[in-house]
Amino acid sequence: MAELSKDFKFKKQFGQNFILDKNFMNALVRDFNLPSNSYVLEIGAGAGVLTEVLANNFEKVVSFEIDKTLTEHLQAIENQHENLKFVFKDVLSVETSEIDSFFDKNFYLIANLPYYITSQIIFKFLFESKKLSQMFVMVQKEVGVRFCAKHSTKDYGIPTVLIDSFGSCKIVKNVSRTVFKPVPNVDSCIIKIEVDKNKFKINNEKKYIDFVSNCFKMKRKTLYNNLSSNGYDKTKIIDAIKEMGLSETVRPENLTAEMFVNLFNKLN
Ligand code: SAM
Repeated sequence: MAELSKDFKFKKQFGQNFILDKNFMNALVRDFNLPSNSYVLEIGAGAGVLTEVLANNFEKVVSFEIDKTLTEHLQAIENQHENLKFVFKDVLSVETSEIDSFFDKNFYLIANLPYYITSQIIFKFLFESKKLSQMFVMVQKEVGVRFCAKHSTKDYGIPTVLIDSFGSCKIVKNVSRTVFKPVPNVDSCIIKIEVDKNKFKINNEKKYIDFVSNCFKMKRKTLYNNLSSNGYDKTKIIDAIKEMGLSETVRPENLTAEMFVNLFNKLN
């Protein structure tokens, strides 16, 4: 693979901390243990080291990159791989249905994500994609811990509940900051999110997402207080909470995703 030009300027505004060690990327992708006929979406190609490993191992790879100064470098890689296509766009500006249409079967999202939009990207695909089956994404360690937290712990919150409502999440590897160039101020981890939209029966996904967010709106308040200040009938809330065998003073962080779904179904 061609080296990244010596004049290349890493751009903080695009979250550019690259991993240039091909052996590291090869070992990483091998550990994912995915079939060779997999289709893969990558977000943020950077220098293309991970991209090339993906193209060497899987049937089809589509990779987004926002930084147009990388175009020439990445096109040289694309020319060597018939199964690879770069899209030089902000992934958040493209409809998820359009991204889905690159693939004629389910795909995996594998990415070393730009940290400043990690959540936006993960939830865009988790909520909107009809073809995403799993994500393996590098995120800031604290974010990974929060996303995979157990209920009733300090890290548990809206993202945890939402991921657990539409799939499952686990940390598959911790990654030291020293493998990145430039070295960031934080350590990272790779999380695996398995998408399962039918895990629970949720009638109105959009309304459910708002519901969960409203349940956590006022930190340190009880679930009852959060819901009643959001317009739900007070007697109905108390009845629903009691029917679920919970105390009136229960806090949102004490509920599992399944309990949130039950409560939502009872109140709506
Ligand atoms: N995958 C490379 C690696 O592992 O070395 C680069 C990872 S770097 C953390 C994130 C990459 O995402 C950068 O190349 C950045 O330019 C790109 N990026 C940032 N925001 C993006 C967006 N909205 N859409 C597409 N790419 C984006």
